[in-house]
Amino acid sequence: MGSSRLDIALAALGRMKPVLGQFIDGDAIAGAGEAFEVTRPDTGETLGAVRDATEDELNAAVAASKRAFPAWAATSGDRRKEILHRIADAIEERAEEIAAVECLDAGQCWRFMSKAAVRGAENFRFFADRAPAAADGRSLPTADHLNYTVRMPIGPVAVITPWNTPFMLSTWKIAPALAAGCTVVHKPAEWSPYSARLLVEIAHQAGLPAGVFNSVNGLGETTGRRLTEHPDIKAVAFVGESRTGSAIMRQGSETLKRVHFELGGKNPVIIFDDANLERALDAVVFMIFSLNGQRCTSSSRVLIQSSTYDRFVADIAARVRNLKVGDPFDPATEVGPLIHPRHLAKVESYVDIARADGATVAAGGARLEGAGYFFQPTLFTAANQGMRIAREEIFGPVLTAIPFDDEADALSKANDTAYGLAAYLWTNDVGRALRVSHALEAGMIWVNSENVRHLPAPFGGMKASGIGRDGGDWSFDFYMETKNIALAMGDHKMQRLGV
Ligand code: NAD
Repeated sequence: MGSSRLDIALAALGRMKPVLGQFIDGDAIAGAGEAFEVTRPDTGETLGAVRDATEDELNAAVAASKRAFPAWAATSGDRRKEILHRIADAIEERAEEIAAVECLDAGQCWRFMSKAAVRGAENFRFFADRAPAAADGRSLPTADHLNYTVRMPIGPVAVITPWNTPFMLSTWKIAPALAAGCTVVHKPAEWSPYSARLLVEIAHQAGLPAGVFNSVNGLGETTGRRLTEHPDIKAVAFVGESRTGSAIMRQGSETLKRVHFELGGKNPVIIFDDANLERALDAVVFMIFSLNGQRCTSSSRVLIQSSTYDRFVADIAARVRNLKVGDPFDPATEVGPLIHPRHLAKVESYVDIARADGATVAAGGARLEGAGYFFQPTLFTAANQGMRIAREEIFGPVLTAIPFDDEADALSKANDTAYGLAAYLWTNDVGRALRVSHALEAGMIWVNSENVRHLPAPFGGMKASGIGRDGGDWSFDFYMETKNIALAMGDHKMQRLGV
């Protein structure tokens, strides 16, 4: 089974060889920019080469999105709904191929990618259904005027995505942009570019007009920078590191770009001693070690009430040592390789940092033998909130355990980071659940649950974890402008100065 999925993925990449170029105005072009290599995370082998878009190619992609914008913005919501549903149908039909490409290119495990591909289709369906009402507004009448609001798409937008679960994340940003009537220039991450090509091809085969959705490959500091500086791009939807978000804000400042940022996290999971500890244990292990720890909402800090700390930490350590690490295509594999040798080196560096700061490596702590970029699932204990392993986003299969005394101590430790994306808490005391939830500095709180998503609910972070929210109508707030129209009702008296 595993090898046939590998064959499917290799065949998909075979169609993109010898060098993957750009997709502009409805056509794939070879491109003339410099090529960079993409490697296979589980073996370290070369997967292929991709061209960094030249300045002319990037300009052509933006120009195509600008040309296509008026007609797409004027296309009825019902028609946009129909096309987006067709894209969702096609994603479902090709879900196995998409998931296989993610396993090969991003090193993500089959067990999660098979669901992530289907979630990509759900994202399209969700926003497709909302397209007919995207322009809806409110009526705000006064005695002499009818004020009412309408929304219109903001224009061509840039969507810049990272390498973890690249397909699902791209659909989460691109589907609402298209549903709103915006045109898109997408730049996927250079370390996992292949599923983005599948998406743009699928969208065109499903009937999306040329120029509405363009996809340019390239490096952040060249193609990404040019895209965010381009005067014809009206907004930038970005998912990635907080530091890159700052750079994009600077780059877009000259042209007054609207920005939407989904950035990093150092998310706490708080375990009170009255919680259902068995369920909490499952959730703690799942939320940091699934997706190879390369997940923005991963709970990378577990804060445990002192009375249960020793027992709970011992239970986590036992589970961590039993996780099945290996071939991402094997449905039994729980943890696959990291994305890139540079990222592997970064994750590994935190072992020395942890030891130097006085923490204990209770499980894992080393890379695996071989050419793949595997890192053992790792647990740091005897940590405190002052340590770098408790403050910095490691973005790997690495969990830091920290004890706390009481509710106030838990809250102060949970909030003591620059980030504020997600937080999880486990308790059977409803009053405490509410008190703590309200005081936590995070955009999303899950109580007695792992990250279970509901697409109409807002998704996003506070502090260094982001600007803006996705999901429901929040996505349209970003991709659309709200306009107020005031209509005089009859012959009202004008208020003249000095009269
Ligand atoms: P990254 O910031 O390095 O890169 C993300 C994208 O930005 C890539 O396409 C990259 O080429 C591009 N880029 C880099 N520099 C740029 C520049 N100067 N101008 C324009 N574009 C530029 O992030 P990454 O390492 O690919 O991804 C991991 C990060 O993403 C983690 O911090 C993770 O928490 C975050 N993330 C956040 C969410 C969320 O929803 N909050 C979801 C997934 C990942």
